[in-house]
Amino acid sequence: SLTIGIVGLPNVGKSTMFNALTRNNVLAENYPFATIEPNTGVVPLPDKRLPVLAELVHTEKIVPATVTFVDIAGIVKGASEGEGLGNKFLANIREADAICEVVRAFEDDDIVHVNGKIDPADDIDTINTELILADLQTIENALPKMEKDLRGKKIEQSYMDATKKAKEILESGRTIDEAAKAGEIDKADIYDLHLLTAKPFIYVFNVDDSELTNEEFKKKLADSVAPAQAIFLNAQFESELTELDEADAREMLEDAGLAESGLDQLARVGFDILGLQTFLTAGEKEVRAWQIHKGWTAPQAAGVIHTDFEKGFIKADVVSYDDFVGAQGSMPKIKDEGKLRIEGKDYVMQDGDIVEFKFNV
Ligand code: GDP
Repeated sequence: SLTIGIVGLPNVGKSTMFNALTRNNVLAENYPFATIEPNTGVVPLPDKRLPVLAELVHTEKIVPATVTFVDIAGIVKGASEGEGLGNKFLANIREADAICEVVRAFEDDDIVHVNGKIDPADDIDTINTELILADLQTIENALPKMEKDLRGKKIEQSYMDATKKAKEILESGRTIDEAAKAGEIDKADIYDLHLLTAKPFIYVFNVDDSELTNEEFKKKLADSVAPAQAIFLNAQFESELTELDEADAREMLEDAGLAESGLDQLARVGFDILGLQTFLTAGEKEVRAWQIHKGWTAPQAAGVIHTDFEKGFIKADVVSYDDFVGAQGSMPKIKDEGKLRIEGKDYVMQDGDIVEFKFNV
């Protein structure tokens, strides 16, 4: 499954946040026989629709979609030139499908900042520089063979051009993700290089709890990483939240003036930047959110439930979440109102589709 790698300088609150994340671990509940690596946290994708559906179809069992985070420990500065730990750090990032950078924006004189001062932009620069240098190294290593392949017509000129463009972007100190969002390069054109900075980035600013509702403060930080997504949380506050039961946690959030926990936001944004979406099934046995890639067709989605469903796909009975709830989950009513859609093999799944697949065995 796709994973999000958590990176950051030492003492920024990574472990505090990661431990809070893993306390939300859903694997243990739903997949009791799965083995979980100690540095991996599988958290539920928050979805307010699921309890609503569960009540309508009278089931207790809810299975949410999940988001997988991997805590990438290791040194940062000098990683790109380093051996041992540095290499391991980069290899772990290479395996992740998206990068979540935790950045310290909280003040606390008792906790030493590795660079001696609280400067989020500078911290981001330190980390991204290592990733950029590693990517430049990748390109340097690839170029001699690429030039040979180009002469031998084994690769296209366009691939060489895109690689050189990528090199220029990196040399200017920017990530490929940043440049791609600005429309300067198409990630697909350099996919074969598997560059670290071509992965989607999310920035998590670990801020003092007093700043969680300080919109001006947050906007400044958000603007500094835009168009990448920024999330604001207080790692210690999140940690305390995960120790409470649902009602108490909700109250603590409300008291802090927050609609949603930072970890829930992180799960949602992370799921989205991985290019994932869900479709839903609602039956007496369970209500479930299944994860698929954006743009997948009905047979591909069916294959996530069971490979036989994809092979023997006939059609999909689809009703939107809103229509399902509007009809109080009554199939006869949904049919009467003409809200049941019969979709064929070319149908592209939409978020919020409640589906029943018909298939041959
Ligand atoms: P890591 O090195 O990035 O994993 O950082 P840790 O999670 O170990 O945190 C380093 C220190 O900062 C610990 O003493 C934490 O208790 C503390 N810490 C983490 N988050 C916060 C925060 O939001 N505010 C304050 N004041 N301290 C924090």
